[in-house]
Amino acid sequence: MNNKTLHLITYSLVVVGALNWGLVGLLDFNLVNALFGSWPNVEKLVYVLVGASAVYDFAGHSKYCKYCGEKSEKKA
Ligand SMILES: [Zn+2]
Repeated sequence: MNNKTLHLITYSLVVVGALNWGLVGLLDFNLVNALFGSWPNVEKLVYVLVGASAVYDFAGHSKYCKYCGEKSEKKA
């Protein structure tokens, strides 16, 4: 798996996690729970993967973000 594929997967998971939070806040509807609630272990795994993806994307953020990448290059 190359970095681009990994980034696409982790980024998608972060978006899914954020949208899920938005749904919980707006409609009191947990999509992840609705989809995977019957399998508590799978539901938990989704949450853990979303969290891990956020950490991965945040850690590598400046590598692919043109705004943050520019800034750190100019300052360094
Ligand atoms: Zn950035």
